[in-house]
Amino acid sequence: SSFSGFGLKAPILKALAEEGYSQPTPIQAQSIPDVMAGRDLLGIAQTGTGKTAAFALPILHRLAENPHTLQRRGCRALVLSPTRELASQIAESFQAYGRHLRLSTTVVFGGVPLGRQERALAQGVDILVATPGRLLDLIDRRALTISGVEIFVLDEADQMLDLGFIHALRRIVTMIPKQRQTLFFSATMPGTISGLADQLLGNPVKVSV
Ligand code: AMP
Repeated sequence: SSFSGFGLKAPILKALAEEGYSQPTPIQAQSIPDVMAGRDLLGIAQTGTGKTAAFALPILHRLAENPHTLQRRGCRALVLSPTRELASQIAESFQAYGRHLRLSTTVVFGGVPLGRQERALAQGVDILVATPGRLLDLIDRRALTISGVEIFVLDEADQMLDLGFIHALRRIVTMIPKQRQTLFFSATMPGTISGLADQLLGNPVKVSV
């Protein structure tokens, strides 16, 4: 099978060909059609399985399909990641797969000055990849609003909890719309994680690779 059967927009297929991706990985094959259709997703998958493209490709497709004027300081898709390294990799993937689309991606994480990140958010962005603490700092400083988020991704949920981000995560979730698409990924699924998934997801497609 190849990517062309999913109905992804041509500029995305062109970027995938340029990346040298000839066929979807198992998690991509099992999740892309349902995520493109707007379903919530619970993915049990480790890094290295291609899970980034499993969420990034349908997000790019959906955002490009429904053009929208950017809200000042707003974002349309919010991806939470536990570390700056992972967040940066995810943002690079969105930029690579979306290079032929007119969608903007910004990444924000802690440990660096706020000013440049505040300026990058001022006009709004289509896709924001963030670590939880810095995201809340930017919201508290009125540099960012997440009340217009259409698609919410929680990546590496187990690592997120291990790093002590549960309180930040709960605060963030209270600020995004209840009516949204949510994609939830974790490498492991102990009780606390599946409880959190139950709270965040509505009738999700479940994929385990
Ligand atoms: P991830 O699990 O998202 O971190 O992806 C792991 C690696 O696989 C990354 O280097 C991706 O660029 C690569 N990759 C993801 N999907 C595909 C694919 N369908 N074909 C070839 N490489 C891929």
